[in-house]
Amino acid sequence: MAGLTLARKLAPGRRVIVLERGGPGSVPVDPTCADGEVVGLPYPLGEIRDFRLGGSSSVWAGYIAQLDRRDFAIGLGTELGGWPIEFDELAIYADEAASLLNISSADFAPDLMDLPKTLRRQLSPHGVGPQYWRFSKPIVRMGNDWFQYLSQSPEIAVLTGARALEILLTHAQNEVEAITCMAADGSRFEVRGSLFVLASGGLETPRLMLASQSRSPAGVGNYEGLVGTCFCEHPHLTVPGFELATGSPLNAYATTGVLRDGLPAIVNFALDAGAADLNARAHFFRTPAMAEDAVPRLGIFCEQSPIIASRVSLADGCDSSGVRKLVLDWRIAEQDIEELAAIANSLSEAFSRAGHGRLVRELHPGDIGSELILHSNHQLGTTRMATTAKQGVVDRNARVFGVDNLFVAGGSIFPRVGWANPTFTVMQCTLRLADHIAELV
Ligand SMILES: Cc1cc2nc3c(=O)[nH]c(=O)nc-3n(C[C@H](O)[C@H](O)[C@H](O)COP(=O)(O)OP(=O)(O)OC[C@H]3O[C@@H](n4cnc5c(N)ncnc54)[C@H](O)[C@@H]3O)c2cc1C
Repeated sequence: MAGLTLARKLAPGRRVIVLERGGPGSVPVDPTCADGEVVGLPYPLGEIRDFRLGGSSSVWAGYIAQLDRRDFAIGLGTELGGWPIEFDELAIYADEAASLLNISSADFAPDLMDLPKTLRRQLSPHGVGPQYWRFSKPIVRMGNDWFQYLSQSPEIAVLTGARALEILLTHAQNEVEAITCMAADGSRFEVRGSLFVLASGGLETPRLMLASQSRSPAGVGNYEGLVGTCFCEHPHLTVPGFELATGSPLNAYATTGVLRDGLPAIVNFALDAGAADLNARAHFFRTPAMAEDAVPRLGIFCEQSPIIASRVSLADGCDSSGVRKLVLDWRIAEQDIEELAAIANSLSEAFSRAGHGRLVRELHPGDIGSELILHSNHQLGTTRMATTAKQGVVDRNARVFGVDNLFVAGGSIFPRVGWANPTFTVMQCTLRLADHIAELV
């Protein structure tokens, strides 16, 4: 999604080559998506990415949310740091991102949600405010929807079935000389250019950087050993001890919602800023296994703090193309689990006091086993943006520290991940990157 967005925005006046490992948009999911070892929290590698033109847009669900202003303040002054850019530096790209994602507005003002006034009045004294997701509609499938534009562009060359195998640095190691690639028939070739952008997702971008060892034994951009570290997801907790009242209007908001402009949205609930360090949102949902009229469960999407131990690294063994397999070790800091339990209790209590259900039992951190935590299909943070190379892999312009003509696009650059589904922010960052690159070439 980042790669094609960048190509579209850069192409007028510039020649762009897009290297896509998979085939054109209509082919089925590549089974090699499942390649890799998982040693930490459970993670179904084969279901959370898609090797084909358009990337994960072929399978994504279209939920749109944006980072909050407060997400840009968290982590500042800590060892790893937070966002080195301001909310407003991305906000100027909100309308452009919204238009590319087929949402007619980038306005996320809470009062746009058409909710009964009584509901707001009941919840607000307990520190809970209704918010919402917008939806990409019709849902963007870039491989299909943008195919005609891409194939007719005289400036964009899309090479499908072209897998980047290695980033080849110059002998001085401060620039990329070429990308070594493999075509679908197994033949190898090199792609040269003045500037290179890695946009292969939060797992494959660090794998490619780590596996590029022929001129840089630790991997490209890995002088401080940070490539692949700080892997973050949005842990989703199903709260076991809260029972929603059958008569509560919140039952309906598990699946439906509408904004005053008539567009679809689904309600979620935020705790007042300051109630917790980690940003989180609650929602009511039914799993696919539940009956359509079953009482929905309370779920929480939560931010996780970056930690070095949560990481992507290389396995000893290679895949069928001779490239080292990836190892994913997804971990969540103990402190985050404690905070997640506290957030779950605060929200459950707030909904109970507002008369929408019953807190059956308080949640303790020890109760939160991996069976209650689910991934959200978001692979973030593995080439984090930072002020210095000691804190991250790319600088405030998404340029890899120490490699002058190499940039990264995608959620791997997020230094803090907030609670929000990432694609809107990925698009904003990518549009910002395109403007920066346009000043260079
Ligand atoms: C099932 C699912 C549901 C989701 N739902 C939502 C949602 O509702 N809302 C939301 O905000 N986000 C959602 N996401 C996340 C969203 O899809 C990602 O945030 C977004 O796609 C990231 O874009 P990207 O460009 O970084 O990566 P991708 O879109 O994954 O693109 C990476 C591309 O790189 C290619 N590639 C990989 N390795 C190589 C290589 N070595 N050489 C050449 N090409 C390579 C891949 O084939 C792929 O085309 C969902 C994800 C999944 C999987």
